[in-house]
Amino acid sequence: MRASYYHGNRTFRTGPAPMPTPRDGEALLRVRRVGICGTDLHIFQGHLDHRMPLNGTIGHETLADVVEAPAASGFRPGERVVVEPLKVCGACRACRMGAAYLCYRLRVLGVEEAGGMQDYWAVPAARLLRVPAALGDDEAAVIEPLAVATHDVRRAEVKAGDAVLVLGGGPIGALIAMVARHRGARVVVSEVNPFRVDILRKLGLEVVGPGQDLEAFVQTWTGGDGADVVFEVTGNAAAVRAMTDLVRVWGTISMVAIHGEPLAVDLYRFFARELTMHGSRLYSRADWEEAIALAASGAVTLAPLVSRRIPLESLQQGMEETLRGGPVMKVLVDLLTS
Ligand SMILES: [Zn+2]
Ligand SMILES: [Zn+2]
Repeated sequence: MRASYYHGNRTFRTGPAPMPTPRDGEALLRVRRVGICGTDLHIFQGHLDHRMPLNGTIGHETLADVVEAPAASGFRPGERVVVEPLKVCGACRACRMGAAYLCYRLRVLGVEEAGGMQDYWAVPAARLLRVPAALGDDEAAVIEPLAVATHDVRRAEVKAGDAVLVLGGGPIGALIAMVARHRGARVVVSEVNPFRVDILRKLGLEVVGPGQDLEAFVQTWTGGDGADVVFEVTGNAAAVRAMTDLVRVWGTISMVAIHGEPLAVDLYRFFARELTMHGSRLYSRADWEEAIALAASGAVTLAPLVSRRIPLESLQQGMEETLRGGPVMKVLVDLLTS
């Protein structure tokens, strides 16, 4: 039984760990795959040290087998499951409003609480969802980011025929683009990394690549109107500065990226065009169910997003490589190898 621990200072160490004992209502899982995501890179760089405990275990994009589960949960040993990695209080204003995923006392498995970067993991059985047989392990490991994308597209109320511009074609941007396309929107992704541009084009997505003038493109594409919806998924100050120039009158900007510090935004454009901007974070159970349905039906293609699999012992190296950029999209930790 191994687990990976966060030591601060850009350091993860994998070592022996005690076998977790499930408490009341918890299932014991054998973890198969865990995705490394942008949030994990923020943790690695120390940006979330106010949330992430020292010697904590990351991993919130997980695929696992049930080892044992409470009889009342309906889950049986051997079933493949994904984990909605949230613990909520059920009583605060957010929970009572139907926004439990934004609970004022929210604890995320893989940030505040132990995540899936360990061979065995005890989690509340109420947070498990079954994976259809149609999905391979790699695809199933990308259901969590797909649930982020279904949530983002739902919250932005993307409709058929909308001109949707996605700033940033990493895994989340690519998934948002595919979900919006499935809704019948016309979608363009802006991305500078040539490796990612290539993957996006192979997914049949229209891409504005490095060296192209994005504002001029959007002008032509929308007949001078601006896009109906812009998703900001880059986390980049230049994109935030530019986004207000790319949206139509009464248009919508969805803030998906994690921005670590306040940035300059052209508020005159908000005033002049009566724009709407909202944040979009995490997901509800309905977003997970939609994600699983879209993946299982093939409406969204997940396998091309997986760049490579690494063993748990290489988590540190995987973080460094992912952070460096270059030829990488989604990296998965494969817990079944060492
Ligand atoms: Zn994530
Ligand atoms: Zn709450």
